Amino acid sequence: MRDFQQNPFIVIWELTRACQLKCLHCRAEAQYHRDPRELTFEEGEKLVDDIYDMDQPLLVFTGGDPLMRPDVYDIAKYAIDKGLRVSMTPSATPNVTKEAIRKAKEVGLARWAFSLDGPTAEIHDHFRGTSGSFDLTMKAIQYLHELEIPVQINTVISRYNVHVLDEMVELVEKLQCVLWSVFFLVPTGRGKETDMISPVEHEKVFHWLYETSKRVPFDIKTTAGQHYRRVVLQQKMREKQTTGEIRYEDVLMKGLNGQVDGLGRAPKGVNDGNGFVFISHIGDVYPSGLLPVKAGNVRETPLAEIYRNSPIFQDLRNPDKYKGKCGVCEFRYVCGGSRSRAYAVTGDYLESEPFCVYIPKAWRKS
Ligand code: SF4
Repeated sequence: MRDFQQNPFIVIWELTRACQLKCLHCRAEAQYHRDPRELTFEEGEKLVDDIYDMDQPLLVFTGGDPLMRPDVYDIAKYAIDKGLRVSMTPSATPNVTKEAIRKAKEVGLARWAFSLDGPTAEIHDHFRGTSGSFDLTMKAIQYLHELEIPVQINTVISRYNVHVLDEMVELVEKLQCVLWSVFFLVPTGRGKETDMISPVEHEKVFHWLYETSKRVPFDIKTTAGQHYRRVVLQQKMREKQTTGEIRYEDVLMKGLNGQVDGLGRAPKGVNDGNGFVFISHIGDVYPSGLLPVKAGNVRETPLAEIYRNSPIFQDLRNPDKYKGKCGVCEFRYVCGGSRSRAYAVTGDYLESEPFCVYIPKAWRKS
């Protein structure tokens, strides 16, 4: 089994910060123009070699908009030829042509992920800060189907769409996506706390997601919603589907086709800096793109050294060091709360997840 102390399960590389959109929640506060300090193609090759040597984790290109880098397919080809599984999260802009997608298929990209934050153009375009984005996304998904590339949909849950989640799931099903990645807002970058749903609403959405996951044909995963794992375990325990032990294996939900996410699922709970690492466009290394605490730079130090030895990463991988209720919670090894949200709200990445309603056993009066 992959040891998260040594190697991540997933590496996110922000190829560029350039993007034509101006999304309300943008972590990167993306800019229209490329930063001249971006890692060069040659530096990218070296980085890919280092990533490959970390037990071949899944590599995801993000941005900004990765398509704003003209050499994106050359970098992807280098990584795929080497043997890595690569996926990409481009922005839905006119850059996403059928030709662009065909190129992605030619180089062997495993999957494309598009953001869809509402079941209607009105809701989605408001959130993305650009009108026409919804229609472009629909068109791009159609191209992906035509070219038989698996589609993933990413949705940010916020107060703008929490009331239309049933319609949202219908759309994801209609679009025949393989994975719905449900992201819970972290108030960093352009994301504001006032746009977030409340802790109680988080809990309600988690319960709704669990029930939904039983009937839909696609997989559901949460990002920055680690406490969904606690809800899944609690529900399964109630339904007597588990031994009663708190084990990560019991969190995995199978889609109706009997499979878990085709790109493979983590062997245990991924969290910021724990099975997960983010490399910025200029090579800075963070536990997550949502946790702006720099642990090093790949221009100066090999990625593996930063991931394995940085005190920031080491602390994040030790749930016994978490503070407050997360530090004593019986679910801390499978959940642990979002370290990014703890940091965004309290300024301390070891603090408790501020949007979890659960009171751990250790805190309850006997
Ligand atoms: S208290 Fe922390 S570890 Fe426990 S379920 Fe909530 S977020 Fe997870």
